[in-house]
Amino acid sequence: MIHTREKIGLRPYNTMRLNSRCANWVEFDAPEDAPAASALAESISGENGIAIIGGGSNIIFGEAYPGVLIHPAIMGWDAVALGGGEMEVVVGAGVVLDDLVANICAAGLWGLENLSGIPGTVGGAAVQCAGAYGVEFGECVKYVKVWDRVENKFLTLSHDELDYGYRYSVFKHPENSGRYIVLQVAITVSKNSEPKLEYGPLKKLAGKSGLTPVDVRNEVLEIRDSKLPRTDETGSAGSYFKNPVVSSTEWDAFCERVKGMGIDIESVPHFILNGGSVKIPAAWLIDKCGWKGRTLGNAGVWHKQPLILINATGNATSDDILALEKAIVADVQQRFGIGLKPEVVRL
Ligand SMILES: Cc1cc2nc3c(=O)[nH]c(=O)nc-3n(C[C@H](O)[C@H](O)[C@H](O)COP(=O)(O)OP(=O)(O)OC[C@H]3O[C@@H](n4cnc5c(N)ncnc54)[C@H](O)[C@@H]3O)c2cc1C
Repeated sequence: MIHTREKIGLRPYNTMRLNSRCANWVEFDAPEDAPAASALAESISGENGIAIIGGGSNIIFGEAYPGVLIHPAIMGWDAVALGGGEMEVVVGAGVVLDDLVANICAAGLWGLENLSGIPGTVGGAAVQCAGAYGVEFGECVKYVKVWDRVENKFLTLSHDELDYGYRYSVFKHPENSGRYIVLQVAITVSKNSEPKLEYGPLKKLAGKSGLTPVDVRNEVLEIRDSKLPRTDETGSAGSYFKNPVVSSTEWDAFCERVKGMGIDIESVPHFILNGGSVKIPAAWLIDKCGWKGRTLGNAGVWHKQPLILINATGNATSDDILALEKAIVADVQQRFGIGLKPEVVRL
């Protein structure tokens, strides 16, 4: 079934709670409706553009989107046992990611528990390669079924074709912008216990006898509750910036600069990646620039986690958010010589 709407307010459809608007909305709830929904969106949009929206938890809208938003609301999932304790689950793109995670954990299956509490849909997670506490959604994705709006055909993209990386996937290749509508995502989860507990506060669960995916989920939810804003209370889009990854030469220059500022380099959190490049937490950089808990106009930086920009008054506009983004990027660049890049998608 395909539903269309005109001139809608987007506040309920973006977790930053921006009072943006869009000219047209096309929603469909079955994979086989994708060709007609896509053709309809194209006929309505003219030159005004088409974008795809899942749960709107990683999108910053401008004041008004003139084109068509396509919302794949495909629900439900099917599970097939693969043997050896493995299970393949084919999930509709519109399923709320955390509903899936809760059900998978309750079934005693491992693989998604660290992703507990991430807002948004399964389709959005497959595009953004959502991740938390040492696990990325892409790791468990086996294949993704899409409607290809350029070639006008259904495709199944295998794990290798999905090109997953840190908040990255084939859907992020510039030439693929808006090209694929994710319809269904096949994931593999397992009865065999392989908890990933390397992340600080989760370490305390290591070695605990009888540990279940639900135990890990509950711990993750507790950690998230203590650090992150609740989407029903404070508008945000999660981590606003990506953690910058610098070359070893850039890291050396950064260390010199930091030492010159009187900061003990041992106190700077960083992760050395394969190939010698270094990931520096953007939260640390923003915090050191004094932004934690500060506001600029109606926008602000979350007081418990400086990577999260918030709709501080509830009345922030996209201009407020962008002004804050610009101010933070400029400060971090000037102080540390590092360019922050947004993780959020701007429409
Ligand atoms: C409080 C809070 C905490 C968060 N914590 C985390 C976290 O721990 N880790 C993390 O990775 N993220 C986190 N996020 C960000 C966000 O929840 C994830 O990126 C999520 O996976 C986005 O899913 P969505 O359905 O909301 O996607 P949307 O925001 O709707 O869209 C994101 C992108 O995916 C595209 N897209 C969405 N659905 C489809 C589809 N079916 N087909 C094709 N393209 C599609 C959109 O066009 C857009 O480019 C958090 C957000 C909030 C508000």
